[in-house]
Amino acid sequence: MGRWKDGAQCAVMLTFDVDAETLWLAGSLQHSDRIGLLSQGTYGARVGVPLVLHVLRRFDLRATFFVPGWVAEHHPDIVAAIVDQGHEIGHHGYLHETMSDLSEEDERRVLERGIEALQRVTGRTPLGYRSPSWELTGRTLRLLEQYGFRYSSNLMSHFLPWQHPDTRLIELPVQWLLDDAPFFLFRPGPGSRPIQPAQHAFQAWGEEFQGIYRFGGLFNLTMHPQLIGRPGRILMLERLIEHILSYPHVWIATGLEVADYWAAHIAANPEEWRQGLVYDPLTHR
Ligand code: ZN
Repeated sequence: MGRWKDGAQCAVMLTFDVDAETLWLAGSLQHSDRIGLLSQGTYGARVGVPLVLHVLRRFDLRATFFVPGWVAEHHPDIVAAIVDQGHEIGHHGYLHETMSDLSEEDERRVLERGIEALQRVTGRTPLGYRSPSWELTGRTLRLLEQYGFRYSSNLMSHFLPWQHPDTRLIELPVQWLLDDAPFFLFRPGPGSRPIQPAQHAFQAWGEEFQGIYRFGGLFNLTMHPQLIGRPGRILMLERLIEHILSYPHVWIATGLEVADYWAAHIAANPEEWRQGLVYDPLTHR
C-alpha cells in the first residue's frame, strides 16, 4: 500500500494546457491576421477540448485545464463546458507570454489579467499556476504566493511534489518526457522535427508510469488539446487511461486535490508518510 489518498501507490494528474491560438501568437497580437497558422490553435479549443471532455466523461475522471486569459475570453463557451463537467481551471498566462522575459510590473499585470479573465468566465479564482513553457523565476513564486495561489506545476527537480520554502505553495512537478509537445508539436521550416506516431508516446508514458508507480510518485501528464486532440491520438489517450486503471492502487485527481493532499498529509507529517514504504523517494532510503 502506498501513502497517497486511500493508500494509493501512485497519484496521476491528467492536465491539458488549452493554449489554442495563443501558442502561435507567442505573447503578442502581431500575428493575429495569420489565420492559417492560428487555425491549428483554433482546432485545439473548438475540437480538441470537446474530444478530451468526451474521454474524461467516458472514464468519469476529473482533470486540470490550464487556460490563458485570452483563450477564456475568446472561447468562453468551451471554458464553461470544462467547468460544467467538474474539472479544475488553472492559470496559464494571459497571451501565453514568456514570463521570464517580462519586467516585474509586466509579469504582475499579466498575472492579474489572467486571473480576472478566468474569474469572469468561470466565476472562480484560479488556485493553480502553470507558466507558459514552464518558465519560472523566484519572483514568479513570490507573486503566486501574494495572489493566493496554492500550487505551481512548472519545475522538474523530483517526481514527487514539494513545498516551496517560506510559502504555502506546493510544487507539482512536470517533465518533458510526460508532455505531448516533444512527440507531436510540429513547426515547418528549418529545425523541424518529424511528428511521432501516437504509439511512441504511449510507450514512453507507459514505461514512465510503471516506474513512477513502483516508486510511489506523481505521474503528472501535460497535454495540449490541439496536439492530443487529433482523433488518432485521442484513441491512444483512451488506451493509456485503460492501462493506468489496470493497476490496482492508482489515485487520479486534479492538481488542487493533489496539492491539498500533499500539504495536509505529507508536508505536514513526512515521518508518518515514510512508515511502511519499501523505498522512500523523499530520502532515497
Ligand atoms: Zn502553453
